[in-house]
Amino acid sequence: MERPDKVAFLGLGIMGSRMAANLCRAGFEVHAWNRTRARAEELAAEHGAVVADTPAEAAAAGIAITMVVDSPEVEEVLFGPDGAAEGLGEGGLAIDMSTIAPSASRAIADRLGERRIAFLDAPVTGSKPKAEDATLTIMAGGDAAEFERAKPLFEAMGKLVLHVGPQGHGSMVKLINNTVAAVNTAAVAEGIAVGRSAGLDLDKLVEVIGAGSGASAMLDLKAGPIIEREYEALFKLGHMLKDVRHCLTEAEALGVDMSVAAAAERLYAEADDAGHYDDDFAAVAEQVG
Ligand code: NAP
Repeated sequence: MERPDKVAFLGLGIMGSRMAANLCRAGFEVHAWNRTRARAEELAAEHGAVVADTPAEAAAAGIAITMVVDSPEVEEVLFGPDGAAEGLGEGGLAIDMSTIAPSASRAIADRLGERRIAFLDAPVTGSKPKAEDATLTIMAGGDAAEFERAKPLFEAMGKLVLHVGPQGHGSMVKLINNTVAAVNTAAVAEGIAVGRSAGLDLDKLVEVIGAGSGASAMLDLKAGPIIEREYEALFKLGHMLKDVRHCLTEAEALGVDMSVAAAAERLYAEADDAGHYDDDFAAVAEQVG
């Protein structure tokens, strides 16, 4: 399949700004749009992207990536006034890399399909650092031929790039991954809270857990910030709460009881209520202990 030469990138937050920069570095002509225009201008100044006035204008590139928050925002960017669907037109391809519910991914695919626009749900794992150095994991759901069409773009942003199944499976895989990570981070926070109360040397505690059966990626990434109570966002707590809630909803519809994840959801919700939405999700530690 021919390598696309241009792409629209819609949504330049923590993740999108870095992913779009990597597409520029890989030589793609990136047509960038962001609700707050200054971020698109920054990308243009630093990496040579072309700033678009509307999602539709950017999407005239023929392929459009969305990286926003949840399905209402994805729908607004695709189907709102001057939305990307208008610019893509028949034969276009929309790729949503935000984390949204699988049911919403499938509904968006159907709506785009009516206009003969293809769709991939292709969320990512790996936080700000992996977005920056193009080592994200990308899991795509949708038509295999469309995945092949998008693959050169994915390979410019990610290291492990997988077609995981039909429409919605990318979103489902992602939600399960994040829920496991959310539960694990809450467990790490609880362990550290007990260790703190017991007067333990917390660095030694983490070293021992990390060398043994309690080791995990979340321990590596979040134990330090939890010990230091330093919560600059790599991944916002409000977004993690969204993901756990979507996963619980999907599980309930499937008749699967996720009681451990439900307990974690309560902690993240309390942290959100306490004002930690925009902090890193490690701030769940403030509700523990
Ligand atoms: P973020 O920094 O909060 O960025 C959100 C982006 O969405 C910004 O570009 C924002 O525009 C745009 N946006 C918000 N509401 C909008 C609306 N109504 N219309 C149009 N654009 C809107 O979030 P992020 O961390 O980049 O995360 C983006 C997505 O990736 C989320 O679904 C998240 O769950 C997922 N994700 C994040 C991580 C991570 O570690 N950060 C990892 C994997 C997946 P403005 O600039 O105008 O605010």
